Order: sequence, then C-alpha cells, then structure tokens
Amino acid sequence: MPAEFDLIERYFQPLSHIGTTPLVGIGDDGAVLASEPGQDWVVVTDTLIEGVHFPVDTRPEAIAWKALAVNLSDLAAMGATPVAFSLALTLPDNKNHQAWLARFALGLTRLARRFQIPLIGGDTTRHHTLVLTVTAHGQVPAGQALRRSGAAVDDLLAVTGVIGDGGLGLASKSGQLPGRRAMSAELKLNRPMPRVSFGSRILGLASAAIDVSDGFLADLMHLTQASRLGAEIQCESLPFSKAVKARFDGTDIDWLTPLTAGDDYELIVAFPAQKLAAMQQASVATQTPFQVIGKLVAGEQVVLNKDEKEWKRFGPTDVSAGYQHFH
Ligand code: ADP
Ligand code: MG
Repeated sequence: MPAEFDLIERYFQPLSHIGTTPLVGIGDDGAVLASEPGQDWVVVTDTLIEGVHFPVDTRPEAIAWKALAVNLSDLAAMGATPVAFSLALTLPDNKNHQAWLARFALGLTRLARRFQIPLIGGDTTRHHTLVLTVTAHGQVPAGQALRRSGAAVDDLLAVTGVIGDGGLGLASKSGQLPGRRAMSAELKLNRPMPRVSFGSRILGLASAAIDVSDGFLADLMHLTQASRLGAEIQCESLPFSKAVKARFDGTDIDWLTPLTAGDDYELIVAFPAQKLAAMQQASVATQTPFQVIGKLVAGEQVVLNKDEKEWKRFGPTDVSAGYQHFH
C-alpha cells in the first residue's frame, strides 16, 4: 500500500509532463498556468462515484478514461480547447495497490496524451468508496465560448455521432446483449471520445451547444430552456447505431430508451440555417458525424414528430426526460 507521497510521485507525476508544462505543476501547493492574451479560460468539474456513475466492476483504465472524458466533453460543448486538468481521488483500500493504480494511470495517460494535456495537481484521500473528481481547464478565444442559451427561433438543431449507445453499454454490462454489439456499446460507455475538435471548430457558427451526458431529451431541454425556446425533432432523423436499432420492436418504450439513457457524450448544437454548409464542413474536417434533427421553435415544449405527425411532447415539468440523480 503506497504512502500518499510515493503514490503521487509514481503514478501521477509522469502525467505532468504530457503536452505543455505548466509554470508550476504537481509538487507545490497549487498549479500556476500562464494566461494567453485574447483567450478566456473555461473551467469544468465532474465527479464520478463508483456504483453510481459506473458499475463497480469497471476496469481501472476505463474509470480513468471516463473521468477525464466527461470533463473534456463539457469543454467541447463550450467550444474550448483543453489545456490542463487536475484530479481529486478518493481511494478505497482495495484499490490502493500497484496493479490497480498502474492500470488507472495508464487509462488517464492515454486520453491525456490524445489531447496533449498535463495533469497539474489534485488531492488524494482514503475512504471506502472510489470517488473521482476531475477539473479540466480549457481556452477559448475571448468572448466566443458556446453557451446553452444562445439559440434563436428557426435555428437548426443537430447532434454528433449516435445516440443511445452509452445506455446500451450499461444494459450489456448486465448481460442483456450478445457478442459484437455488446462490445461496441461498451466501448462507447467506457471509452467515450469527447467531441473536442468539432466543438472548437464550430465557434462563430453555432448559436448554442450542450453535451449529452444525462440523456438526449434531458440535455436538449436544458438547451431549449436556457434559450427560452421549444424544439421540433424529426424522429426519423435521429442517429441510432445498428446495435440500438436492433432493439427496436415498434413500441414507444424502445424509442424513448436511447433518448433518455445518458452517457452519450455527443454534442447537441443549434445554428442559423445559413450556416449549415459551414457546419457540414466542420463535421468533415474533424471527422465528426453530424446529423440535422430538427429546429428551435417559439414556446417551451419539445415535440417529437414521427411520420410527419406529433408523436410525443415534453414540457419543462416533465422530469422523466432523463436520468435524474435526485429523485
Ligand atoms: P497539500 O497538503 O498542500 O494539499 P498534497 O499532499 O495534497 O498537498 O499534494 C501534494 C502535491 O501533489 C500537490 O501539488 C497536489 O496538487 C498533488 N496531488 C495530490 N494528489 C494528486 C492526484 N491525485 N493527482 C495529481 N496530483 C496530485
Ligand atoms: Mg492536498
């Protein structure tokens, strides 16, 4: 069982050398980051608790990857480019050993390398439940950060990637899915790739953005409510993977499951219709699948249309639209 100092030096210090070295990193009371003229800081924090945000038997590499990825997804939704991150780790005794920590550090290193961001500090505590809090810092050209609140009536709505695979991955953990399908869905659940390059590429094009973490419908409604608008969605346009579609048997429940499941880490974006071509270029340039799914309308309801008819309607008081931590 390594002492705290050894643990930090051995497993976390190496991550402080990824990408651009901060002015002061791990080892002092705080990290010091240089400010760049013309840039704003975007700071995001997300906590993951074992057994709540990921299953107890999740591999340590996946836990680490996910803890960082969900934060980078928030930066992506703001259009920010990641710069650095810190990690507050609460470690139970059954994980405070070399095998677990080495694999955890490996998962963290893989994603940090991908975006060339150093680990600049954190805190390490001991308790009976594994809890991880990552704080990520990103930069965006001054005044340009994407907000949830910027959408206007008639702006188009689009979503990146596919919706529902994260939720399917969770289902497959409980043995409900066969072979290959279970694998691709689990990959989405455990190794989501935050849409960072797309997020920064659509600065100046998108009017609003949000990342899908709680569930497509819930997060769409966070965007519409922040923009004080409603939305119309064409269900036929919603991007679902083969694995998700294979579970549809024509019932409403099947349709709503992927829309409310969460853990997608895709972006929902709003933009003026005349920016469509530029948005599609951003999608191609960053190799990010991108699908127009509807538009913003006056009011406060989110209407799902199917076969050119209204199928479902959700208002601000419908708490069922997504996963709720606090019932
Ligand atoms: P202090 O008591 O001053 O808060 P700590 O002993 O908690 O210092 O931390 C020592 C150094 O190690 C600090 O620079 C801190 O940022 C860093 N650190 C502690 N835990 C972690 C961690 N889990 N990941 C990265 N850096 C960490
Ligand atoms: Mg401390």
